[in-house]
Amino acid sequence: MLKTLSSYFLRTLREDPADAEVNSHKLLVRAGYIRRAAPGIYTWLPLGLRLLRNVEQVVREEMDAMGAHEVHFPGLLPAEPYKATQRWDDYGPTLFTLQDRKGGDYLLAPTHEEMFTLLVKDMYSSYKDLPLSLYQIQTKYRDEARPRAGLIRGREFVMKDSYSFDVTDEGLDQSYLAHRKTYQRIFERLGLEYVIVSAMSGAMGGSRSEEFLYPSPIGEDTFVRSPGGYAANAEAVTTPPPSPHDASGVPATEVFDTPESSTITALVELLNAEYPRDDGREWTAADTLKNVVVALTHPDGRRELLIVGVPGDREVDMKRLEASVAPAEVEMATDEDFEKHPELVPGYIGPLVIGPNSPARTIDEDGVPRGSVRYLVDPRIVEGTVWVTGANEDRRHMMNLVMGRDFDVDGTIEAAEVREGDPAPDGSGPLHLERGIEIGHIFALGRKYAKALNLTVLDENGKSQVVTMGSYGVGVSRVLAALAESSCDDRGLAWPAGIAPFDVHVLATGKGEEVFDAARTISQQLDASGLDVLFDDRRKVSAGVKFADSELIGIPLSIVVGRGLAEGKVEVRVRRGDRKEMPVDEVVDYVRCLHEELIREGR
Ligand code: ATP
Ligand code: MG
Repeated sequence: MLKTLSSYFLRTLREDPADAEVNSHKLLVRAGYIRRAAPGIYTWLPLGLRLLRNVEQVVREEMDAMGAHEVHFPGLLPAEPYKATQRWDDYGPTLFTLQDRKGGDYLLAPTHEEMFTLLVKDMYSSYKDLPLSLYQIQTKYRDEARPRAGLIRGREFVMKDSYSFDVTDEGLDQSYLAHRKTYQRIFERLGLEYVIVSAMSGAMGGSRSEEFLYPSPIGEDTFVRSPGGYAANAEAVTTPPPSPHDASGVPATEVFDTPESSTITALVELLNAEYPRDDGREWTAADTLKNVVVALTHPDGRRELLIVGVPGDREVDMKRLEASVAPAEVEMATDEDFEKHPELVPGYIGPLVIGPNSPARTIDEDGVPRGSVRYLVDPRIVEGTVWVTGANEDRRHMMNLVMGRDFDVDGTIEAAEVREGDPAPDGSGPLHLERGIEIGHIFALGRKYAKALNLTVLDENGKSQVVTMGSYGVGVSRVLAALAESSCDDRGLAWPAGIAPFDVHVLATGKGEEVFDAARTISQQLDASGLDVLFDDRRKVSAGVKFADSELIGIPLSIVVGRGLAEGKVEVRVRRGDRKEMPVDEVVDYVRCLHEELIREGR
């Protein structure tokens, strides 16, 4: 394939787009790969489309190699299957929904579990048909709250999604592991660094789930690793609870005035100044119990206040909290919420008026607690621990409040921030925090979808069995952006040879006709040898502009035909390597070999 730049549909930009913050976004727009159509929605230009197809092809080849079958679903789907699994509601405002002219509900698919389940149900009915893995590479729609970073978090994006179907739990394990291996191969072939971390099963339900993250400071996910090999998304980190404390010697609770202590720091200062501890150590923020009031909105629209108790030296991590309460949505409680609960004195909320401690608490006939706000605490708040906390009166606090003796809770919740050095839950050492971009996610779903949609097969004994499923995603367009992040430099993009939109960029830099003729001949010969060539044959464009464009576009190899031609020389440039001058009649063979080498070495 040979394309000439003079007629190629491409316009490079010198300036970064105003809305772009990260390299991949800036460079993909500037180099003419994508164009913004609406917030979080992008148009693929010819260069971008070639790149996308190449990334897709790597994913497709590996999926085919593991024995999965490619299908292609519509993006526009009827609502009924999603209503049957509750996801019509559970997905919340992220779901793009619409109606047809007859008033029927439709959605633009955010992911396709329901449709794949129904397809298999439609066509298969025996255990002999399983195991089965199906996949597609397809456009997904999610009305993300914060689309950002170009392709990294779009509202329309390309995903490879696959689904496995098995009769037995062991079968599901094998399908899960086959996908895991395939993902490792995909990212290795793409040359993209990845870390596999345990993830939350969250709203999807299911048992086992891992994410593939590309470590990057611009990532929205925080993950942790321990020296002993524990790795998890921060959302999925569980807090090892300390063993219960012996609080038998703790004096009775005492309320004290705290006139100037609206912050925890001020409270701790006041304690150290006026109430020194008997054991000689200083009071710290970790001795205080902070109660944060949030409002949950459940999928059915019900609003519920929730109080989250955490040690005062830790913040509530909203992402961890969101993951813990999903599919409910979380926001901070509003003034209106507080008006409905006069027992809550902002800034001075203590356990004695909330949760099971509240005098208003009753249990209805279904065993559901009523009458007071639900109270969930960090797992570190175990029986016998002693706290300084709000006294439910303006400018007053309470000390010697013992968990289990003076107050109770409705349960625990993982919502406190995870910090550098916290112990790994499996005892494998202190945690180290890093940031990453989620590029893939594998999920042992179990029987939730098959049950909801009644996907069963007959087993060897003619008995009907509910099928067990896995669901697996690679963010193809996000992976492309991550590849841009990992390979670019201050001059532009620099694709690995395996996915670059073209193999060789030939630049004619000079005025003489012989320069253009020689460059065209080289381009044609490379094309004839099976390489994809972009030939910069633009007239009246300076050599400087051609070099700058070439580095911006990032094709791995380029050949500069210019001044040296008079002495029979051209220059070969490796985008991520050196330059070398050589005789013009050797360049085609040389570049072919070099290209093979780059591919072989995954560079
Ligand atoms: P995130 O936590 O980043 O919102 P997710 O966990 O909701 O992602 P999945 O449902 O697991 O995403 O989707 C599978 C893959 O699709 C993700 O691992 C990610 O690579 C990609 N992906 C998800 N949302 C987006 C998006 N808005 N834009 C681009 N790619 C996305
Ligand atoms: Mg995910």
